[in-house]
Amino acid sequence: MTAPEVPIDVDPETGIWRTDGLPMLYLPRHFLVNNHRAVEQALGRDAYAAILRAATEKSAIHWCHSEAKTHGLGAEATFRHYFKRLSQRGWGQFSIDRLDPAGGSGAISLSNSVFALEAQAADALPCCYMFEGFITGALQFLLEAEGREPRAVACSETQCAGHGRASLCRFDFGAASSAADDGARVPAGGQR
Ligand SMILES: [Zn+2]
Repeated sequence: MTAPEVPIDVDPETGIWRTDGLPMLYLPRHFLVNNHRAVEQALGRDAYAAILRAATEKSAIHWCHSEAKTHGLGAEATFRHYFKRLSQRGWGQFSIDRLDPAGGSGAISLSNSVFALEAQAADALPCCYMFEGFITGALQFLLEAEGREPRAVACSETQCAGHGRASLCRFDFGAASSAADDGARVPAGGQR
């Protein structure tokens, strides 16, 4: 075992944890996944996924802006730093397999996803869709920071390691196919 690779500062007066100036929480994995499942069950997967997409995109964009400023990173470096930090914080081990910043597309693989590790037998669909909004948010930051035209971005978990169905989870992302696409789907190849 090794110590965390992210810097963690604890305010002795307030007890607030921070990394690079951003307040952080350290949570049991089951707590996060149980909350996630409870909301999914209450709202239905599609409704929840759409809400989650918007919320996680917003958070990813906020994080990328903050980290770019803190570390003086360029757009693509910030994008890569984001997935490195997620990996260092225990969400799973993200690997950017392909990235075309100009085209706004690429592929990310993920091993030891928290959702795949907590997957239950009843789950039949890819279970790591929370990360789709992390990816589209980071990609929107990248496109904007490079001065490219804003566009809808699609991302889908096209392979999931939950239940031992595959060795890795995989996310494919790219420009949404049409204005009518809400960014929630990659047109082909998805499992859902
Ligand atoms: Zn997965």
